[in-house]
Amino acid sequence: MVFHSGHLSRQEALNILNLPDEALPELIDAAYAVRKKYKGNVVNIQLLTNARSGDCTQNCAYCAQSRASQAGIPKYNLVSYEKLLQDGYTVREKKLARHCIGLSGIRFSDQEIDEFANYIKGLKRETQTHICCSIGFLTPGQAEKLKAAGVNRINHNLNTSRNFYPAICTTHTYEERIANIKMLQGMGFEICCGGIVGLGESKTDVVDMLIAIQAIHPQSVPVNFLIPIEGTALANADTSHLSAEYCLKVLCLARLLNPKADIRCAGGREIYLKGKEKWLFAVVDSIFASGYLTAGGQNIEDAVKIVTEAGFQYTIEPA
Ligand code: SF4
Repeated sequence: MVFHSGHLSRQEALNILNLPDEALPELIDAAYAVRKKYKGNVVNIQLLTNARSGDCTQNCAYCAQSRASQAGIPKYNLVSYEKLLQDGYTVREKKLARHCIGLSGIRFSDQEIDEFANYIKGLKRETQTHICCSIGFLTPGQAEKLKAAGVNRINHNLNTSRNFYPAICTTHTYEERIANIKMLQGMGFEICCGGIVGLGESKTDVVDMLIAIQAIHPQSVPVNFLIPIEGTALANADTSHLSAEYCLKVLCLARLLNPKADIRCAGGREIYLKGKEKWLFAVVDSIFASGYLTAGGQNIEDAVKIVTEAGFQYTIEPA
């Protein structure tokens, strides 16, 4: 079978997710050719700081920080500057590619943004790292302040398809997410935009989400595989279909649709793709180390080890 990259029809994309597992090596070869052409053999490792945790007003079904969640997570309004700086130094010293900073919540007061922008200014001055923030819906004025403070990239995920969105969240809409991304992109931010697989969506929803992400032309596409968290609405979600083979097909599709973007295997990597690193890194060029917003993960040393043992290199990206 011949696989091409760039524009794929909805049916062609769906055919990839429906491939028999025996066809996976051929699909991975095709994804690797694209990855090698645009990304070489480098894997970016990124660190994630949860700068504001819990007490969100929104009801995203997968999220431990949502108002509907009973998960026993730490809750704080803003992490200490010292902790943020400590993470920034780790990013610099371990030669990681980027410092990702997530804040729970969907809207922020100007005062909160001013305080956070001051943190970012200090962090940028001290560490000179590439900074990406995941920070809800911003007003243009708030976004300008963060840009001036040194934020390079904004993460705002679509999470799933337009059709399936109301099944995972009813407190804001998919369209609001698209509008926020477009506004930020128009202001010159790099965009990181991805989603979560395993929420109860169909394969067509995964295809629709990835095609919608492609239309945004993001610099980075994080693909998460659901980690069901106790206390959330999806605590008992059936993830039995998230075989390594299925996850790899999703990642190959993300790579073929977005040849030049960073394709990141984010949450769930350590669970669903453990032991499959040679295949994984043939497709993706980016991972997180040291855990996710509210879930633990592999430490930096082990992440570096699996990258190098799989025959790939990790390296710093200039800010
Ligand atoms: S995903 Fe974001 S917006 Fe949704 S509940 Fe969690 S913190 Fe709030």
